[in-house]
Amino acid sequence: MDYVLLNNNEIMPKLGYGVFKTPLDETKRVVNYAIEIGYRSFDTAQAYGNEEGVGEAIKESHIKRENFFITTKISIKNSGYEKAKISIGESLSKLKTDYIDLLLVHQPFGDYYGSYRAMEDAVREGKVKSIGVSNFSPDRFIDIQNFCNIKPTINQIETHVFQQQVVAIKYLKKYNCQIESWGPFAEGRNDFFNNNVLKKIGEKHGKTTAQVALRFLIQNDVIVIPKSVNKNRMEENFNVFDFKLDSEDIEDIRLLDKGKSLFYDHSDPSVVEYFIDSM
Ligand code: NDP
Repeated sequence: MDYVLLNNNEIMPKLGYGVFKTPLDETKRVVNYAIEIGYRSFDTAQAYGNEEGVGEAIKESHIKRENFFITTKISIKNSGYEKAKISIGESLSKLKTDYIDLLLVHQPFGDYYGSYRAMEDAVREGKVKSIGVSNFSPDRFIDIQNFCNIKPTINQIETHVFQQQVVAIKYLKKYNCQIESWGPFAEGRNDFFNNNVLKKIGEKHGKTTAQVALRFLIQNDVIVIPKSVNKNRMEENFNVFDFKLDSEDIEDIRLLDKGKSLFYDHSDPSVVEYFIDSM
């Protein structure tokens, strides 16, 4: 496993396991598998409704808590100082732990400044080690970074071979904030797993398309948290530290970048509906 050093001197694994859309009744089982395979970093959120499953699997593993890195996120529905503060207590209890390794503002909507202040207090109280944001565009990120007391350690944003976030990586570096990818496979969009460029590079290294895609991000210093509920694919996604992409591979993958989201087309009615439902 490779690790990154965050701006507050905490260490975070470069590869973790995400549980977005994993139903609560399946979460404990898949997180158990993930722990068996060797994953120690887990990414959940209040909005996913499955923090309990993550917490139970970790607790019942009988592996020391300090060997795990747990991330959760404050949902839009809990935005604002008071509600966020209560929700942090609820997350701790659902995750069955006395501290959260990384707590993020899930989306830059609602009173997220209030949420951020509650997160800063939680750090001072020892309930949270690191705080950060997610889905923050440059303008929102630069604003909060200038008007907060504890600087965000992470911005978790859509990042994959088709949206490489070249600009975000540059500005986050300037602020000493680590980029973390969500959707490292773009959830399979754009025929991800059959991409010919990734396939060809994979054949050269004896690796799969998914492994090449993860390795590209890891070599680019992006934290990844792929999601799979399939044990073989979970193993496949974990085995990405025994090969290296060369400069030619990297150049070819660079050309896949579309420089825009495959998810948030703000003129798409379903995207607008999603935001209405989130509020
Ligand atoms: P991913 O890009 O990780 O894609 C997941 C999909 O790819 C699933 O359908 C999975 O199917 C499939 N898959 C996984 N591994 C393989 C493989 N090796 N070969 C073929 N198919 C594979 O999508 P996510 O959106 O889940 O992103 C990862 C994590 O990022 C989330 O789980 C969540 O923790 C976080 N996230 C955060 C967001 C935010 O707003 N902050 C937004 C979205 C995600 P199967 O399960 O059947 O294997």
